[in-house]
Amino acid sequence: MTNEELWQSVLAQIQFSVSRANFATWFKNTKISLKENGKIIVSVENSFSKEWLANKYSSLILKILRDLESEIKSVEFLVTSEKTSFPLVKSKKSGLEEKIASPQLPFQELVVDQKTNLNPHYNFDNFIVGRFNELAQAAAWAISENPGSTYNPLFVYGGVGLGKTHLLQATGNRLNELFPEKRIKYIPCERFVSGVVESIKNHTIGIFKKKVKDVDVLIMDDVQFFGGKEKSQEEFFHIFNIFHQSQKQIILSSDRSPKAIPSLEERLRSRFEGGMIADIGIPDFETRVAILKAKCGERNIELDSEILEYIASNIRSNIRELEGALNRLVFYKKINNKNPNIEITKKLLGNLINHPKKKTTFKKIIETISEFYDLKEKELLLSTRRKEIVKPRQIAMYLLREELNESFPSIGRKLGGKDHTTAIYACTKIAKEIEEDDSFLLEINLIRQRLYGGLNGGK
Ligand code: ADP
Ligand code: MG
Repeated sequence: MTNEELWQSVLAQIQFSVSRANFATWFKNTKISLKENGKIIVSVENSFSKEWLANKYSSLILKILRDLESEIKSVEFLVTSEKTSFPLVKSKKSGLEEKIASPQLPFQELVVDQKTNLNPHYNFDNFIVGRFNELAQAAAWAISENPGSTYNPLFVYGGVGLGKTHLLQATGNRLNELFPEKRIKYIPCERFVSGVVESIKNHTIGIFKKKVKDVDVLIMDDVQFFGGKEKSQEEFFHIFNIFHQSQKQIILSSDRSPKAIPSLEERLRSRFEGGMIADIGIPDFETRVAILKAKCGERNIELDSEILEYIASNIRSNIRELEGALNRLVFYKKINNKNPNIEITKKLLGNLINHPKKKTTFKKIIETISEFYDLKEKELLLSTRRKEIVKPRQIAMYLLREELNESFPSIGRKLGGKDHTTAIYACTKIAKEIEEDDSFLLEINLIRQRLYGGLNGGK
């Protein structure tokens, strides 16, 4: 292996064990500058990165290096002024441009394709199939080979965190691979709805519709958001018909069946039901263990089966929560350099597992945040711009989204009469900060504990 290939393999593994933000921050512009007598020197951009990598990641990096080449004994970091930049987060360019722009392999895992809106991390290879989702998976797979003519539309439905988005995006990605000439577009329904609202306001509805119509495969996630949005339903109805008539594939997902979507026009409901409907259920115990095992592989951690079975028997109905549990254990391992045992696991996952039926309300969130930051509730709700209010209000927006799954327009309206873009901005900003700053994560967890009457007080 050349030094470059070796480092690429290290990075490819590391990105599964660190957050995306950390990865982008600390591993950008790194490379192996020397490999000699079992010693590796990694060049980094500045002394800050050097210190961070040396303190937090050197043992992980060394372990991965050794798995790849057993004769490697040590790793050191060296600041070099030279910048061999490789693109981290950027839009996809043509293959040639990509190669010219970057001396190393592109990090496609981090790229959300600007044209298709698809995240290449979601694929069929890392999608575990069991009885609970095999119909949906098989239908999606068939469509990816034969778009437009197999089932149109495909309507996938199932509860939160059970893999709808993953499956839809995997289908889009595979279609993209097999039919590079086709224009594929992934749109969350919520974004379509706000697009309709916005473009009506700006008198650009024609342009907006053309953009949606000008694709060959339309993938729309979470169409339960159409409920009650009459204008959006009307616009979508026409788009749907055009697609259907020209045998262009439509793939839809929803958290419930078409029948159960409230205030959905009959004509749209019957369109949704007109192709193939496949539901995703809840994975059984063995499948939950298999999912955990696969995720352990991705994250480079080996856990006793006792631990995996403990998680699988306590978290039953949400794959995202299974991942969340695993992430806590991975985090523990990173900090302590050893795997947690079963006792530690139980402690680490305590509040995930013992409060499975989390319930909160808008009122409770506002109350808790104003109490936590010592503000008046009114200040959060009105549009004051005082500096000390801005951040708590953003946190409130984030929690409304995370805990209650409120729509962005509604969040904006309720908190300071802002529009949905302010809410989206706030939620993205807070999510990013949580990922990057562990003490901020703690702060948010404290608020959550209060919200759910956990360890630290709460009523
Ligand atoms: P939904 O859209 O149904 O709420 P997601 O597709 O966002 O759920 O899935 C939640 C998380 O669980 C994602 O990280 C996804 O990759 C993972 N996941 C869901 N289903 C599977 C599966 N069958 N195999 C592997 N990972 C899965
Ligand atoms: Mg989803």
